[in-house]
Amino acid sequence: MRRLVTADKMQGRRVGVVMTMGALHEGHLSLVRRSVEECDRTAVTIFVNPTQFGPQEDYAKYPRQLHEDLSLLADLGVNYVFTPQPSEMYPSGHSTRISPPRVAEVLEGQCRPGHFEGVTTIVLKLLQVIPADIAYFGQKDYQQYLVIRTMVEELDVASDIRVCPIVRDADGLALSSRNQYLATEARQRALAISESLSLAEQMVRDGQRRASTIAAHMRQHLVDADIERIDYIALVDPKSLQEVR
Ligand code: AMP
Repeated sequence: MRRLVTADKMQGRRVGVVMTMGALHEGHLSLVRRSVEECDRTAVTIFVNPTQFGPQEDYAKYPRQLHEDLSLLADLGVNYVFTPQPSEMYPSGHSTRISPPRVAEVLEGQCRPGHFEGVTTIVLKLLQVIPADIAYFGQKDYQQYLVIRTMVEELDVASDIRVCPIVRDADGLALSSRNQYLATEARQRALAISESLSLAEQMVRDGQRRASTIAAHMRQHLVDADIERIDYIALVDPKSLQEVR
């Protein structure tokens, strides 16, 4: 893989990479289209990365549909798809891990201990295998994007990191491979999440400036929709992810 990409680069071709865990949907495909547009060669990785899942998380049941994924990518004109086995990326005894930057400590980092360590480790490894000019990430995982951008800057990785907008279903739910887990009723309830974000946006537009008031309204909206457990609602600075008042 590295030999192929290096040869492309030596011939002056611009290489883009999109890293995914597969079960591809329009969200992923929007990143792929952007890479195909902006680059001469596009590589996609499909790898359900075990080190970013907590012990109680859904690694075993995470959706896997390589066959469908490959045919979607072929239709978009992707040049390379890298689909390693876990034992290739992490041979037995593999122990090196990246310690993620400070921006990984809050929000998802707090709810999912070890998650960003797994993410930064696999992203750096994949950028070693595929030393792309540009790596594309989705704004759906905004904290992940910040974590990776910071790591790449601070560890002098040569790739540019680009972020692309969230793709949502017509009713507002952000596309996610994990939406496959949601039965009709749960999917309906999940809409309250994007609604609460729109509610916050509207409150700011209408002049509300107190974060605690906005958060309280969001919480109430989720509770009214029978969302029982809320990990966090936070209004934060878009660079540091520190809470604002
Ligand atoms: P995943 O397969 O969930 O690891 O996602 C791979 C990449 O696709 C990440 O950069 C995600 O942020 C991005 N992505 C996933 N879902 C969406 C979406 N609905 N809109 C935009 N980007 C997305």
